[in-house]
Amino acid sequence: MNITNNAIVSMLYAVTSPSGEVLETSGDEPIWYLHGADQLLPGLEKVLESKTVGDKVEVDLSPAEAFGEHEEELVSKVPRSELELPEEAFVVGNELELEDDTGSAIVTITEIDEDVVTLDGNHPLAGRAVTFKVEVLEVREATESELEHGHPHPPGTDHDHA
Ligand SMILES: [Zn+2]
Repeated sequence: MNITNNAIVSMLYAVTSPSGEVLETSGDEPIWYLHGADQLLPGLEKVLESKTVGDKVEVDLSPAEAFGEHEEELVSKVPRSELELPEEAFVVGNELELEDDTGSAIVTITEIDEDVVTLDGNHPLAGRAVTFKVEVLEVREATESELEHGHPHPPGTDHDHA
């Protein structure tokens, strides 16, 4: 069948920079999604419409269409002592989950000075134009429970989950 709303799709993907550097990849481990349920970036979901098993698609996305522009106000510098973390957590590139009164947020450590740590709350690929390369592995109709849950149940999934 062809990919259409309420199809369950499995695929392999790679995200590259315009120069071809691989930024993120599914490797050999397919990902699954429910088409038409806003589980993919809109620009990616659009090019997958009506594709079928074995098709390979490629789409260039601007930062806004991909992971968002890089927003300076999501970058903050905090005194190292304010972060109650073990010494080994202070590594550039490390992702932290911070909680405050308003909820929790994932931030990446982008710089460490002696006493000050720079935290970036943007998506690691924010501000970058990217190319998605996708290979469609499987397309099938969603089962009733998948439609009810609004997500795929790949092989091996526990169907009793909430
Ligand atoms: Zn489910």
